[in-house]
Amino acid sequence: MRMGYRQIVVDGSPVGLRGLDELFVDLQAQGRTPQDEGLGVEIVTQMSKDNYIPYDARELFAAAFVREYAAYLARGEMGSGRQRGYGTWRGYPREQIPWYPTVNEDLCNGCGSCLKLCRTGVLGPTDGGKVRVADPFGCVVGCSSCANLCKPGAITFPARSILDAYPYKPPGR
Ligand code: SF4
Ligand code: SF4
Repeated sequence: MRMGYRQIVVDGSPVGLRGLDELFVDLQAQGRTPQDEGLGVEIVTQMSKDNYIPYDARELFAAAFVREYAAYLARGEMGSGRQRGYGTWRGYPREQIPWYPTVNEDLCNGCGSCLKLCRTGVLGPTDGGKVRVADPFGCVVGCSSCANLCKPGAITFPARSILDAYPYKPPGR
């Protein structure tokens, strides 16, 4: 069976992985929750069968996997249907496009303006009253409205020129 491919953000960088959504489907069917002890390490072990995960980065990957699994479950609860994928952009799977915000929590003052502006679920509150990136690939490719609004400059995006690497792909190619 062909495995799905998508990117997640690990320690601020995009990483492409095969088979993650299939694993999440299995975990959900087993009733696993993001709070389960050792879940991140377990996902690292499973994903290592089909992906290269550097030994020294296992903890970072474990944290990212738990965060992604929580976002995956939340999307299902919201009924957004995103468990079937984020769709495509210019013919490419959305998860292959490295366009999403990065939030510097040290600069964020917790004003909440970005949360009021963006209702996509990309951004969410932290326990400490600041903002974090909760669902990076829910971000609308090319949008940077929240960064423009953020007075302390806590939200940043990659250079728009990275999108030039993804020319329109005709359907079926
Ligand atoms: S707009 Fe900027 S400062 Fe305000 S909550 Fe969002 S990230 Fe933090
Ligand atoms: S860039 Fe646009 S879609 Fe993406 S998080 Fe900010 S406001 Fe939301």
